[in-house]
Amino acid sequence: VGERIWQRLLETNAARLRQGAALLSADYGFRAAAASGDAATIVSALENHGARIGATIGTLLDTDFEPRALHASADAGPMAAPLLHDIGELLARQNGGSRIALVGGQPYQFVVVPLRAPLPIGWVMMGFPLGQALADDMRALSGLQLLMVAEPALGPATVAASTLNAEASEALLRAGPAGVDGDIALDGELLFGRTLLHEAGGGRLRTLLLRPVDEVVAPYRQLQFVLAAITLLGLALFAIGSAWAAHRVTTPLRSLVRASERLGRGDYADPMQGTERRDEIGELARAYDHMRLNIAANETEMRRLAYTDRLTGLPNRACFREMVHGAIGLPGPVTRSVAVVMLDLDRFKHVNDVLGYALGDRLLVAVAQRLGSEVLRQGDLVARLGGDEFALLLPDADAATALAVAQRITASFERPLTLDDQTIDLGAGVGIACWPAHAEDADTLLVRAELAMYGAKRGREAALVYDPALDGSSAQTLSLLSELRSALDGGELRLFLQPKIALADGRLAGAEALLRWQHPRRGLLPPLDFIPFAEQTGFVRKLTLWVFEEAARHWRALQSLGPARLSVNLSTRDLLDLELPHKLAAILQRHGAPAGGFCLEITESAIMDDPARAEAVLNMLSAAGFKLSIDDFGTGYSSLAYLKRLPVDELKIDRSFVMAMQHDEDDAKIVRSTIDLAHNLGLSVVAEGIEDAAVYAQLRGLGCDEGQGYHMARPMAVSDFGAWAMRWTASHSAARVPAAAMATSDFGVQALQASTA
Ligand code: C2E
Ligand code: CA
Ligand code: CA
Repeated sequence: VGERIWQRLLETNAARLRQGAALLSADYGFRAAAASGDAATIVSALENHGARIGATIGTLLDTDFEPRALHASADAGPMAAPLLHDIGELLARQNGGSRIALVGGQPYQFVVVPLRAPLPIGWVMMGFPLGQALADDMRALSGLQLLMVAEPALGPATVAASTLNAEASEALLRAGPAGVDGDIALDGELLFGRTLLHEAGGGRLRTLLLRPVDEVVAPYRQLQFVLAAITLLGLALFAIGSAWAAHRVTTPLRSLVRASERLGRGDYADPMQGTERRDEIGELARAYDHMRLNIAANETEMRRLAYTDRLTGLPNRACFREMVHGAIGLPGPVTRSVAVVMLDLDRFKHVNDVLGYALGDRLLVAVAQRLGSEVLRQGDLVARLGGDEFALLLPDADAATALAVAQRITASFERPLTLDDQTIDLGAGVGIACWPAHAEDADTLLVRAELAMYGAKRGREAALVYDPALDGSSAQTLSLLSELRSALDGGELRLFLQPKIALADGRLAGAEALLRWQHPRRGLLPPLDFIPFAEQTGFVRKLTLWVFEEAARHWRALQSLGPARLSVNLSTRDLLDLELPHKLAAILQRHGAPAGGFCLEITESAIMDDPARAEAVLNMLSAAGFKLSIDDFGTGYSSLAYLKRLPVDELKIDRSFVMAMQHDEDDAKIVRSTIDLAHNLGLSVVAEGIEDAAVYAQLRGLGCDEGQGYHMARPMAVSDFGAWAMRWTASHSAARVPAAAMATSDFGVQALQASTA
């Protein structure tokens, strides 16, 4: 802007000069003087006129631009004619405009106008000093400082005019031609400078426009402050707004987080906060609250399902366990006792299989009702533990009270149950255990009641109170399984054989394979010490295969003693294994033994556990050629009619009847009728437990086919069997020679007497 003002100022100046010059050239007197060459008049006119318009130089040039007359004020200095000629010629050709020239080291602005009379007779040229007055005008107009430096082609530059003080002007002059625009430091003040260069006749004119930088940036600085203030205000507003929004959101969110933590802990009681809000947080809170109520409802339902037995509506095992736990934890006198009565229905599986599951379910419901209405006393609780197992919790009851309750159970079960015209006999094994007499905590109490219950079932007693003898081995139970495994792998098992004798002629008919465990610490263990446990865990199936493999291995050697059949015991678990026939067949093939050389002994109870499956397996075994025998006959519940359906070849009268038949007339009758019935059904009969010659003789008299017992031989190691059999056959062959010879054998004499009788 300053630059433009400066240009405009120069132009205005020139225009004024040109006007003045034009007026002069139009002046009649001046034209006349010029035409006549009256130099004095011309100079005087130039002077007067120049003085009016502020021109200090005035000259009349002829048409060849040679000066004819010249007026120059005193301070204009010497005037070079060639310079005037050049400027005049230049401006005349340019027709208008102005030209700056240095005259005597000072800058002047020149204009030229033609002089016509009426033909051109010359040129009027006027010069105006560019000096302090112009500088002051410039300063007044633009507010800028100004330094005008004349730089003649020859000679030093000088300050032509300056609005600065002399010192500053000198300093800037000394600093040399700035030439470029930029910041200039002056007296400790920073100025922004702009340099304008004018070519001038005889050199050039340099004009420096200056303005303090502070002044230049002052408005911006203020703007800066305003912007900063606006920014700060904005930031503050933003911070306040954010804090407010965060508070509105985070506080309820935090409460939701705490609430969900409470939910995680299973505490559904407290309702959510902020559900009344209309925004998203409120929506979230309502969703949470909804979820809380649903979870609570679900949990209640799950708890109900988890703790009740769906069939009977009674508490289930988990619930019963907690109830026992609670009962034990109740405060009370030191003498307080809690009793658990556990019962397991007899033959329930049979009912299920024969009469169907629906009836089985109704039986369970009926039993639950009977227990509830006829057995429970005030304050007692009943639960179904699963399957056909029920349990009663008697808070404040000792063993005697519990036994009384057990009797009520027995009494209640004496009445048969009628369902759909089916009459079902009820029966149960009942076990009793008391806290703190038998157990210190709820779990042990339950385990011990169960042990007592199994004890009762085994012993065929109505009810049994827990006795430490019942689980004498239970402490070793866990290690027992791994011990059994290593017994099998480590060759600690032994096969024992007990002979079976044909009673009619004393011939060796076969032998029963019986298992022994040569325990590294406890010595030779009888099967009852580990077989029941092995049955519980299913490990017995491995034992059976081992026994059968051993039996098959020895079978051929045994035949050298005469045709003899080897009997092998199968457990319940074996009988439920549909793969068993194939496994046995594979073993037979390995040892080249025929299936017909083996008899498999199965107890009645093993069959009755799952009659359908047992029947299927027995049919397969029979089809494979095995002989089948019902072991411990008389102790189970099966009817002969049912057994007849099975492919059975032999009945083995339980040793309890045989051992007692000498003294107990009833047992003798049972043995006798069993033999008759078996024969009528086409089965052969074996009596086990023959401990003396009298029983031997008696059985022989009753037509019992075979006998087994300590009287003939105890079970013995396989290695001893051959020698025993030789001895036996030797004494037995005596039995067939005349009676005198037989007298040498105690056994033979009595046998003869018995047969004679
Ligand atoms: P069990 O099958 O009834 O075997 C007959 C048991 O009666 C044998 O007892 C035998 O020693 C015993 N015994 C034989 N004669 C007499 C006698 O005159 N008087 C007396 N008091 N007892 C006699 P053991 O060997 O202790 O076997 C007991 C039970 O262990 C067996 O009864 C059988 O149920 C089971 N058992 C034995 N070995 C095996 C086996 O390899 N597998 C399976 N699953 N069970 C086996
Ligand atoms: Ca047996
Ligand atoms: Ca037996």
